[in-house]
Amino acid sequence: MAPVDLTISPWRDAAACLANPDVDFFPPREDTLAIARARAVCAACPVADECLNWALLTNQPDGIWGGHTVKERRAIRRTWLEESQRAS
Ligand code: SF4
Repeated sequence: MAPVDLTISPWRDAAACLANPDVDFFPPREDTLAIARARAVCAACPVADECLNWALLTNQPDGIWGGHTVKERRAIRRTWLEESQRAS
């Protein structure tokens, strides 16, 4: 298995959130309006896939990453780990 690069900087420079400092990417889980605002920025982000993969690999416990909430990431991660185990 190839080593995984967990550094954030290679893709972070192109992150759309850098140009949207007023948007909260770590809103309370019940704040659906703030979550929708963050998702809208992520939807237009050129590095959303890299962001989501990084959040999955590092198991980020909070925030919106790649347009996904922590609950959504947990579901993706669970499926991803199950598929990895089946493949090995
Ligand atoms: S996907 Fe969203 S949180 Fe991730 S870098 Fe892009 S704008 Fe920022």
